[in-house]
Amino acid sequence: MSIRLPSPCLVLLIGPSGSGKTTWAEANFHDSQVVSSDELRSYVGIDQHDQAASQDAFELLDFIVEKRLARGMLTVVDTLGLNAEQRARHRELATAQGIPTYAVGFNTSAKLCRERNKERSRPVPARVLSAQIKQWGSTRDGLAEEGFAAVLDPEPVVVVPADQLDADARAAAQRSDPRRLAFGLQIPSFTWDGERAQLGEHLVEIGRAAESAGFSSIWVMDHFRQIPQVGPEWHDMLDSYTALGFLAGATTTVRLGVLVSGITYRNPSHLGKIVATLDVLSGGRASCGLGIGWFENEHTAYGWEFPPVADRYALLEDSLQMLPLLWGPGSPSFEGTVLNVPEAMCYPRPIQDPIPIMIGGSGEKKTLRLVAQYGDACNLFGDSATIAHKVEVLAAHCLEVGRDPAEIEITTLSTVLIAPDRRSLNAEVDRLGPSNATADAFAARVNAGTAEDHIGRFRNLTEAGVHTAIINMPDLSSTGPIITFAPVIEAFRQ
Ligand code: ATP
Ligand code: MG
Repeated sequence: MSIRLPSPCLVLLIGPSGSGKTTWAEANFHDSQVVSSDELRSYVGIDQHDQAASQDAFELLDFIVEKRLARGMLTVVDTLGLNAEQRARHRELATAQGIPTYAVGFNTSAKLCRERNKERSRPVPARVLSAQIKQWGSTRDGLAEEGFAAVLDPEPVVVVPADQLDADARAAAQRSDPRRLAFGLQIPSFTWDGERAQLGEHLVEIGRAAESAGFSSIWVMDHFRQIPQVGPEWHDMLDSYTALGFLAGATTTVRLGVLVSGITYRNPSHLGKIVATLDVLSGGRASCGLGIGWFENEHTAYGWEFPPVADRYALLEDSLQMLPLLWGPGSPSFEGTVLNVPEAMCYPRPIQDPIPIMIGGSGEKKTLRLVAQYGDACNLFGDSATIAHKVEVLAAHCLEVGRDPAEIEITTLSTVLIAPDRRSLNAEVDRLGPSNATADAFAARVNAGTAEDHIGRFRNLTEAGVHTAIINMPDLSSTGPIITFAPVIEAFRQ
């Protein structure tokens, strides 16, 4: 089994010359992750072996380690590592950035180090090597007390996003004591290979693949141009409800919703009418996602008003009261703070009574209060610790307004990059990663992992209180990733 190291982390190699430090670093890390004092000598001195340049090389090393850690970059320090002050200094630089430091001790026998040294074209003088071996002997046993996250043997390493460090154990917990979790697929991007005449066909393929992989819902964003977090604004973006109507005709079981509709985009009664139509035509599969919206540029571009946040909250709250009336019998009149609907009438009435409303956003004071008052579901954002906290805040609001928190479905949105094995996963990270982020940073952002890693991550989310995990995938130009994800869904079916 390989050692799992979190990204980012600092790795300090410790051992005498010839103990195998550089060889191990080369086998387990990219060149760009390793900072070696030997190499730095060649920048400030004649070559790698220029001992006279050592002092300058070590100054440069400290500088580079500090700057890399400040950028959150995984860093492997390849020096003898026998200087206790240097180890402490580097560990403190990492701690200051909230990055854990791992020591790797190279406990290679003195005999082997000497033999290897003799075979080298530029051997270290025997006297110097003996001193290093002695120093290693007196360093080794104290390493555990120095404050590292762990002291490791030089075994093979797998670098994983920090929150997947314990994924193996968490996945094992899910298998021995399974918990239920439903999955939704969000499709945030429609820029795929091929002509736009084939776009509909591919959307159907994705919808059907998601349904057969076990996803219980499909979601799209409510945007009219691509958002900066996903891609350039000229990338393809479909109208949300038209796309869902199309998917409704191509699928049979998945629920369909917008994650989430900005309340400013349409007259709220018209929005209610659209969602009701989707519900009827899909046989009762519509979800109504609502939020206050945020993308001002888009409003400006289309000539829509984008009221201040307090007004948008007022419109959202009015709509949360009005929509169930609109979907209900008769044609009651509704008068809210900012919304008046003289005849809230909608026939055919939706099949679901009422259509469940999901409120998007994690704002603790206002949004989560609205969820407690009016929501059937919420959509929270963040790691499991953040979500666990938000769930507590929501429960407190529920207590205040006399709502049973168990009635509210907790959902969260995150990205999944999945591949069948570590090697193909790394290849996907390299293929899809943007040029302005390191591979590790990208892997963390998209939660790159195998099925087992994802089972562990989602197990943590269930323990934080999540009922439905909505995921998006960085590249759906083929349905491959959806199929690869199916065993993760299976593991949470019970
Ligand atoms: P230095 O401190 O001098 O840089 P080092 O600890 O980086 O030494 P390496 O350069 O990695 O040591 O290894 C020294 C020699 O030992 C190399 O020729 C390498 O091929 C060999 N060697 C290292 N690790 C192993 C190993 N696990 N199995 C077989 N040979 C190894
Ligand atoms: Mg070396």
